[in-house]
Amino acid sequence: MVRVTASVARLALLCTFLAVITCAQKVAGDPASAPPAAASQPSSKSFDVNAAVDFYLAKMPPAERARSNSYFEGGYWLLVWDFLSTVIVMWALLKFRWSMRMRDLAERLTRFHPLQTALYWVQFIIVTSLVTFPLTVYEGYFREHKYGLLNQTFGPWIREQAIGLVVNLVLGGILTMLLFGLVRRLGKSWWVWGSVVSILFLTFVGLIAPVYIFPLFNTYTKLQDLRIKDPILSMARANGIPATDVYEFDASRQSNRVSANVSGFAGTLRISLNDNLLNRCTLPEIETTMGHEMGHYVLNHAYKGVVMYGVVTVIGFAFLSWFISFGLIRWGESWGIRGMTDVAALPLAVIGLSVYFFLLTPVTNTITRTMEFEADMYGLNSARQPDGEANVDLMLGEYRKLDPGPAEEFIFFDHPSGRTRITAAMRWKAENPDTTSPEEMARPLFNSH
Ligand SMILES: [Zn+2]
Repeated sequence: MVRVTASVARLALLCTFLAVITCAQKVAGDPASAPPAAASQPSSKSFDVNAAVDFYLAKMPPAERARSNSYFEGGYWLLVWDFLSTVIVMWALLKFRWSMRMRDLAERLTRFHPLQTALYWVQFIIVTSLVTFPLTVYEGYFREHKYGLLNQTFGPWIREQAIGLVVNLVLGGILTMLLFGLVRRLGKSWWVWGSVVSILFLTFVGLIAPVYIFPLFNTYTKLQDLRIKDPILSMARANGIPATDVYEFDASRQSNRVSANVSGFAGTLRISLNDNLLNRCTLPEIETTMGHEMGHYVLNHAYKGVVMYGVVTVIGFAFLSWFISFGLIRWGESWGIRGMTDVAALPLAVIGLSVYFFLLTPVTNTITRTMEFEADMYGLNSARQPDGEANVDLMLGEYRKLDPGPAEEFIFFDHPSGRTRITAAMRWKAENPDTTSPEEMARPLFNSH
């Protein structure tokens, strides 16, 4: 379920313009070493972009860089372990006929098909969550603590896991009922309407998430600080974004990572910042981050994302339909599954989707990463803070490898790497030397851990 949930979450998050960034540790008290003379006096002729990029990359101490690389590269392996663990658990549910027994129990409890699907789903989610629980705790709790990226103790963390499980139970249950209903009515061509219904459903979830799901995990209040609120609303007006308030939420209760987003439509439009961003970043850094988020809105990334992920989803469902038929013809009988309309085939479908999205990791990452780079360019042009942007990019480097190889970035990165983003910022700065900020350049970002 981990991979499936991750893809669902990715699409849902995309739909709500959510962009998660991490801000740095508390700013160190001691002043930074002076920036090199070449970088502090840029002009379009003499400004050396590569030297400016190297200057920023060097702001992150080697120990901090090593920690971040280790965390992020470990994530490549988690991708593999998550995939393998999902396939093994699903295979076990089929092979040892647990899936068949869960279906039988659901059929004993009710004769109503959609309700049988829902009852199966409840058992399925509880069993798979319990079996994969050790991996979930390692990935989401112990590993995050090991790298200093989680502020929560175990109690609040497990409470949020439980809330997430309930959300998954309800939303996943509705989608599964819809999909198996289509299979029962349409037979072999179910996947065409199945992909359409899934896209619409996930888009709907993305739309309601800011109002009904995110507040389950964080408290949202109106931002009072006019020194931050006024410049953000001014930028919003200048960019044609109809917002009248800025919201703040308490992400610090989970981690040092901060998220900022622009979500909703005309009537429900909402700009949200979190307290980490407000507490740890300077105004130029907040402005460039908000410029990035506004870019997602103005460039219609939500709609483009639905179209691009829609294509991925339709192809995925065509593959899934073939995959399920293939598996059931060979092993259906030995697993006690009656056919495609049988909800007990769900673990087979999850294996199919896991294989598909695992193989397509570079494709889905590139779709997202390309839009993120566009939002970066929009942020630079609207906020005009290339040095603030470079500092934010470095802060993100706390948990995302700063300087990967090109193939590594293509395969594993769903946002551009620090080097790519800082290079874009410095290239922009070379053409706009009047925007140079000596304060941002000199600002120290990292405490030694
Ligand atoms: Zn973004």
